[in-house]
Amino acid sequence: MQSKKIAIIGAGNAACITALAYYEFGQLRSKDVSEIEIYYDPSIPIEQVGQGTTPAVTKLIAGILNNTYCPYKDNYTNGNVVKSTLKSGISYENWGKETGKSFHPFLMANSSNHYVPHLLSKAVLESGLFKVIEKRIDDPEKEIDADIIFDCRGGRDRDKSLYTELINPLNSVILANKEEPDPSLLYTRCVATPNGWTFVIPNIDSVSYGYLYNNTITPKQRAEKNFIELFDVVPKTHINFENYMAKNMFVGERTVLNGNKLTFLEPLEASSSAFYYTVAGVAWNTIWHETRKDCNQFVQREMQRIQNFVLWHYAKGSKYNTSFWRYAGKMAKDVLSSDPELMDIVVKSRQYDRNHQRSIQMFQRRETYSQWEIGSIGHWDSII
Ligand SMILES: Cc1cc2nc3c(=O)[nH]c(=O)nc-3n(C[C@H](O)[C@H](O)[C@H](O)COP(=O)(O)OP(=O)(O)OC[C@H]3O[C@@H](n4cnc5c(N)ncnc54)[C@H](O)[C@@H]3O)c2cc1C
Repeated sequence: MQSKKIAIIGAGNAACITALAYYEFGQLRSKDVSEIEIYYDPSIPIEQVGQGTTPAVTKLIAGILNNTYCPYKDNYTNGNVVKSTLKSGISYENWGKETGKSFHPFLMANSSNHYVPHLLSKAVLESGLFKVIEKRIDDPEKEIDADIIFDCRGGRDRDKSLYTELINPLNSVILANKEEPDPSLLYTRCVATPNGWTFVIPNIDSVSYGYLYNNTITPKQRAEKNFIELFDVVPKTHINFENYMAKNMFVGERTVLNGNKLTFLEPLEASSSAFYYTVAGVAWNTIWHETRKDCNQFVQREMQRIQNFVLWHYAKGSKYNTSFWRYAGKMAKDVLSSDPELMDIVVKSRQYDRNHQRSIQMFQRRETYSQWEIGSIGHWDSII
């Protein structure tokens, strides 16, 4: 088989993960990719959010940007050019009915990080691993000569008739930053509030906050007031969002959608960048043996699993008995009752114990539900 030329449009999280993934599959592990081009329009900024990752994505970023083939001098680990901070797990606070605070750890050998998205973008563009072209692209297949084109142009100006809505109780976020670092914060905090939940993420020189809520239940002014009361922050940016998924990840003859161009779901569990890695991998399979139809079906179901896993958290409730939590709880329970796969793995996970023979077998079979291992599901189920 002739080696392939890959083109990626965009320089945000999705484009960066896709570029690193193709460098990994097609240039580091095999010689199946001859060239990877990145086209992006520098006058269109990338999203400012998207800092939290999962272990697989951390390994990808560190593995490629720090490998010996990367000529970028001040590389990822030595210079920490993406201003990475440790994510040793996720602290769920005020969720569930019984516990006030529950920690979902990543094992030390499998831990993760937070980073600054525009610094990842800069590091990828300057890595020397990719041919970078500053150009606005309006019609990818007419303007780009490549075997596969990844369209990672973000979620603006979508033709909504080509997308379905994902089920989720949130549609708004207020962002804030505290300029003091918090060296004791070595994980992501997900704090349930009366109107949704708030992420607290450590940066090298500051702390990021995002107050997530539903503006049809909580007016913006009330959300802002509650954000200030609970976290003592100065609100900076308001963003409204929709939760959606493209009906087909493939467009035209050669184009694959990824990132916000493909899908968006609120950030509980920070699963987006790992999903972009999955989409890149699935699209790679179409080159070799899978059909586009099978790949699209797999990706659709995978996104539905992520949607449902996030909803499972809302089904557990919080210490607040408010309009938001009643709405979110009912929405979650209605959806989960039609997902036997998730319910089965939750039940199985209750027998999970690393010291038990049956559990070792379960672990060795690597039973998972999308990005989550059975052990994590069991741990989560027991702590809230
Ligand atoms: C509050 C909040 C918190 C979040 N937290 C997380 C998190 O912790 N972890 C996580 O993984 N995700 C998180 N996300 C999701 C996050 O938004 C996405 O991971 C990320 O922003 C994906 O962006 P993108 O790369 O698809 O698009 P963008 O960042 O919008 O990038 C689009 C790129 O396309 C280029 N472009 C656009 N149009 C053209 C054109 N015509 N020609 C050429 N180039 C073009 C632009 O220049 C830009 O480089 C969060 C989202 C929200 C709202």
